[in-house]
Amino acid sequence: MNVAVTCALGLVVVLIVCAYFLVRQNRIIKTLRKQNSEFITLCDLIQAPIWFKDKDLKLTWVNQFYALMFDKDRSYFVGLTDRDIAPKKLVEGYIRDDLYVLESQNVYRYRENEKAGLWFESVKFPLTGKDGNSYGVGGIAFNITAIKKSENMLHKLVHSDYLTGIANRLCLSVEAARYLSESDAAGQRLAFIIVDIRNFSNANKMNGHVVGDEILKLTAERIKTALTDYSVLIGRFSGDQFLVVLKNCNDEDVISSAVSKIHEGIATPYQIFGGAFAVSVSMGISIFPEHGLDYETLIRNADIALLSAKRTPSADKYTMTYSEVMGMGMNKRALIENKLSGAVARNEFALFYQPKICEETGRIRGIEALIRWNSPDFGKLMPDDFIPIAEDSDIIVTISDWVLRTALEQNLSWQEKFGEMYPMAVNLSRRQISKPDFLSKIVNLLEDLNYPPHCLELELRESVLSHADVRILKDFGELREMGVKVSVDDFGTGLINITNLKTFPLDCIKIDKSFISNISKSPENQQIVDAIISLAKTFKLSLIAEGVETGIELDYLKQSGIEDIQGFYFAEPLNVDSMTDYIRRKNNPEF
Ligand code: C2E
Ligand code: CA
Ligand code: CA
Repeated sequence: MNVAVTCALGLVVVLIVCAYFLVRQNRIIKTLRKQNSEFITLCDLIQAPIWFKDKDLKLTWVNQFYALMFDKDRSYFVGLTDRDIAPKKLVEGYIRDDLYVLESQNVYRYRENEKAGLWFESVKFPLTGKDGNSYGVGGIAFNITAIKKSENMLHKLVHSDYLTGIANRLCLSVEAARYLSESDAAGQRLAFIIVDIRNFSNANKMNGHVVGDEILKLTAERIKTALTDYSVLIGRFSGDQFLVVLKNCNDEDVISSAVSKIHEGIATPYQIFGGAFAVSVSMGISIFPEHGLDYETLIRNADIALLSAKRTPSADKYTMTYSEVMGMGMNKRALIENKLSGAVARNEFALFYQPKICEETGRIRGIEALIRWNSPDFGKLMPDDFIPIAEDSDIIVTISDWVLRTALEQNLSWQEKFGEMYPMAVNLSRRQISKPDFLSKIVNLLEDLNYPPHCLELELRESVLSHADVRILKDFGELREMGVKVSVDDFGTGLINITNLKTFPLDCIKIDKSFISNISKSPENQQIVDAIISLAKTFKLSLIAEGVETGIELDYLKQSGIEDIQGFYFAEPLNVDSMTDYIRRKNNPEF
């Protein structure tokens, strides 16, 4: 009985447990089914192909989008492999990727250009069972053609020249840097060739920009075609210049043959809008590593070679390498002159300012504007390096106009800041004052800026005074009547012509620094300075000593009655910010 009851009870417990598990199982199955159908709905809503494959890489399920891509029913795919449906050239890659995912159990992400113009970003992932082993591979592929198109467009905009479609300057610098490091590692020489279309600006002016643009486009194409057999980077470097970076130049012949190919490539006249245009080019070459190790240096030296090629009629086919330039001792003067003409427009000049101090009061008596040239090609140049060159042509007039306007505008802004204006001195050149419109230009500028004439001082070297004709004397007479001050600069260095002091409208003599240095120990300099002092008295001119560097020099000048001083002792020429500080400190009574 006990046994029977126990058995019955046991059976009931077993039944209840079974029933419990059955119900639970059922619930799980229902939940799973529900989840599965939700999952399928979700997969079908996604506008990208999704697929699952088994271990043998046979498809077990695909989503609606996948089926629609092939215009087939979903069931059609079950049991098929990529060999049955994928483009032949891609099949092996797909299988390799699937096997990698199966074995490594890693997620694999990649971009592919499946058909012409269509881009996909695909993700493949392992299907892993409870035992931790993969039983298949799943995948999804997003069509990223639109994204890729905008990416390409952006890349093109940033890296290619809008007109010719070849690399632009930015791209050239990035790619050339890569070329340089590769060539360095491989122990290979590289040639940087700047190709310049000869007389392009004339052609552009005479035939119009549309023709000019065509010449540029065709030249780019022809250089590209000419160099197809070379390992080369080609880009538009500037307006009418192209840069060719040629790899593997250990053999010197590679460079000369590439140069010949370029000449040959453009030899046949261009047919543009029914007209024939003969184009020729000059080239300047620099070589890595001989002529520079970095992009900037190599470009600069190729440019120098190009300039000399253009100027040297004997240059072989208008082409020159940097070493030839060095061999010729190519005159820097010619190179500077070439770069000077556009320097104002390129905003490469800056003014420095040196105060003139009244020793007795310690106050600023005036300021002299001194030009500097920050040349991308030659570095920072002092006026003695380029003013004499500029003075050989009308370039000096353009530069002087800029100096005058910039200095006066700066002075006005100091006045606004500090409420006080000091006379601003600018240096004039002979060619500048010889121009018939010299006076009217200054008068117009003063009016234009509403600048007080008595705060302008014009400095002229003594030699310039000697060449003054009647018109120049009249112009300066008028300027002085307006209140403008006139000084004779570097006095004593040339032949002192006392008549100049009598006839030329002057206010002040600047004693040249060569007489000041070591004045206390040089009786000769003392005599000259004494003579200048008495000349100044005779002609009722004020005096200033320039180039004062030491306290001893200063003491000597003080004893001689010279109070106005300019020189490193007080301040070197200062840039705008430092000069602003200097004025601020001078204005402060505690200074
Ligand atoms: P400068 O007119 O005689 O200018 C004075 C020169 O002496 C400046 O040289 C100045 O930096 C330098 N200097 C000033 N104090 C001392 C000193 O205590 N010791 C020494 N050793 N040198 C001192 P910088 O700036 O090189 O100018 C040289 C010349 O270039 C100027 O001589 C002037 O003739 C010319 N220059 C400068 N700026 C211009 C400009 O805007 N236009 C023209 N036409 N010529 C300019
Ligand atoms: Ca001066
Ligand atoms: Ca001087």
